[in-house]
Amino acid sequence: MTWGDGTRAVRAGLPEPTAYEPTLPGPVFAAHYHLPGEPTGPYTYGRDDNPTWTHLERAIGELEAPGAEVETLVFASGMAAISAVLFSQLRAGDAVVLPSDGYQALPLVREQLEAYGIEVRTAPTGGDAQLDVLEGARLLWIETPSNPGLDVCDVRRLVKAAHAQGALVAVDNTLATPLGQRPLELGADLSVASGTKGLTGHGDLLLGYVTCTDPAVAASVRRWRKIVGAIAGPMEAWLAHRSLATLQLRVDRQCGTALALAEALAARPEVSGLRYPGLPTDPSHRVASAQMRRFGSVVSFVLADRERAERFLAALRLAEDATSFGGVRSTAERRGRWGGDAVPEGFIRFSVGAEDPADLVADVLRALEA
Ligand SMILES: *Cc1c(COP(=O)(O)O)cnc(C)c1O
Repeated sequence: MTWGDGTRAVRAGLPEPTAYEPTLPGPVFAAHYHLPGEPTGPYTYGRDDNPTWTHLERAIGELEAPGAEVETLVFASGMAAISAVLFSQLRAGDAVVLPSDGYQALPLVREQLEAYGIEVRTAPTGGDAQLDVLEGARLLWIETPSNPGLDVCDVRRLVKAAHAQGALVAVDNTLATPLGQRPLELGADLSVASGTKGLTGHGDLLLGYVTCTDPAVAASVRRWRKIVGAIAGPMEAWLAHRSLATLQLRVDRQCGTALALAEALAARPEVSGLRYPGLPTDPSHRVASAQMRRFGSVVSFVLADRERAERFLAALRLAEDATSFGGVRSTAERRGRWGGDAVPEGFIRFSVGAEDPADLVADVLRALEA
């Protein structure tokens, strides 16, 4: 039986119903478990495993790769998950390819990888430019759509080239969420994401995860989690699982409104550099349509300068000036305030929430007049 995304989301990871037990068991708060005799699993010590993680890990696995045998590991944050893959899979002397336009912490990761004797190469996401620096690399790291520039690369094409020379491929699936894109079905070895953003969607927790097919890769990532101890709290894991039930409702609303907002912005003379992969005129639309099922909640565009962008942000009533994205309440920010991203001073990253589409679009158009 194949289910739709909404059915899968509300049921994901639930244990078999047990009389007089809740449908989704509550968080298990345990540093250690009763463990007589030989210390065999499944639950021994709280840094190694936790039943609340187990339910959430099954849920994420069912969404990332429906019907497939995969292993998922949850982490304290997206960066904990990303670091777990990079530092567990790479050794001194290896080469890794990262995107040059990816998440803003990647340059910090790069410094650390280089300090450990790993060669780091970068190229932009757009135009599949990472292909040009792939030769001899042990791992290819893809971020598509890229944050904040919203460029898209052809995952199948990059995977084919990487696998032909024995490289592993990991995709950062944060922006798309598993309902927007399933990297493992596109051939990637690992799907890695921050659950802080659209996956959980309420802006009230940090979380990360790694989903992969190869048990040996999963075992080494699991070992890294145990060594570093970057583990999710049981309360966060439980809240995340609870939030997954509404993933399809949230993502469908947010993606629909994001497209409506992008269409409204496309008609405005003061807006330039508009990007939304779901917009038929977007440079990424053709590739995105071939590999994405939904195009995400983030729209980016450029206003004339910093002053104009700040005035716009201050005039918004339905979008708070805040970083991060994917939440039920819209947020927007002038990305250049952080430094690090190669974006113009007037560059706005707008995260579309679950407000009524007409209200949000009207608020944005009104704020542009400010
Ligand atoms: C936010 C983000 C991360 C990092 O996630 P945290 O949960 O903040 O550690 C990684 N990749 C992308 C694309 C992100 O947007």
